[in-house]
Amino acid sequence: MRQVVMHGPGDVRVENREDPRIVEPTDAVIRLSATCICGSDLWPYRGAEPVEDQVMGHEYVGVVEEVGPEVRTVRVGDFVVGSFWASDNTCELCRAGYQAYCVHRVLMGTLGTQSERARVPLADGTLVATPGMPDPDLIPSLLAASDVLGTGWFAAEAAEAGPGRTVAVVGDGAVGLLGVLAARQLGAERIIAVSRHADRQALAREFGATDIVTERGDDGVARVKELTGGLGAHSVIEAVGTQEAVMQAIRSTRPGGHVGFVGVSHDVAIPGDELFMAGVHLHGGPAPVRKYLPELVRLIWDRTIDPGKVFDLTLPLDEAAKGYQAMDQRTATKVLLTL
Ligand SMILES: [Zn+2]
Repeated sequence: MRQVVMHGPGDVRVENREDPRIVEPTDAVIRLSATCICGSDLWPYRGAEPVEDQVMGHEYVGVVEEVGPEVRTVRVGDFVVGSFWASDNTCELCRAGYQAYCVHRVLMGTLGTQSERARVPLADGTLVATPGMPDPDLIPSLLAASDVLGTGWFAAEAAEAGPGRTVAVVGDGAVGLLGVLAARQLGAERIIAVSRHADRQALAREFGATDIVTERGDDGVARVKELTGGLGAHSVIEAVGTQEAVMQAIRSTRPGGHVGFVGVSHDVAIPGDELFMAGVHLHGGPAPVRKYLPELVRLIWDRTIDPGKVFDLTLPLDEAAKGYQAMDQRTATKVLLTL
């Protein structure tokens, strides 16, 4: 089968690799219907994380082709969505809603899903079947549920977005934009999106943003405070992961407010004295996307939400290298790869 491999920073190739097969009795093998490139794939691409001959991709939707002898609920022919962490969905941490920390978790990125087929461990716990075969126009949204939508949703929940609350969103990548959508669905009264790009501002407004702040860093903090009577937002979503963005998020939050942080942290150091004086709640990390999948699939299936709009470039899998380039150069927000 064809699969995307990153040989080193900036070196992405599509190669012929061996087809995946059932290894554990709880595995499934799926044929991908679509896959995509994640903002986090750019860290190794840019040399900010070590990479050598790594198979790529952790977002996926597709049709089950084969299941192991212990798989009970997932059937061959099902159309399924899964999270970037495979999880059993039965251990104590899973049952508490922290499937990203499942005691048996497997990171899908180590197996790769930018490929024609993929092995999914712990299939019963990991995969959620849709009510039937989706209309083709639903596939981008279902694919978004696999990571960026679920991650944005977790960020909004961690930030306690809800009725009567003002939510600020730092980061206008796919996760930030879908954090806006999630905050809207959770009933937030006002949503301030931080973005300097006209096209992303427009999508943020479509997803529910009521205000746009174009300033970054402390100027951005000052603008959020201006918009909130000098107090700061109740809820702030951090969807970047850099020092500047994390501090902007904490400083934009009012005392007693909540920060939901989901940008993968890179060289971030929070000064202890500032954290102490801030008086804010911090919660975040890798999102337990699996927790939200049944609800997200339902909202997409009912056409209540259309998170697939974050994909602004579609390329065939064979042109994955072009997709990485486009996201690296920010000419695309998120790239969908067709099969
Ligand atoms: Zn578990």
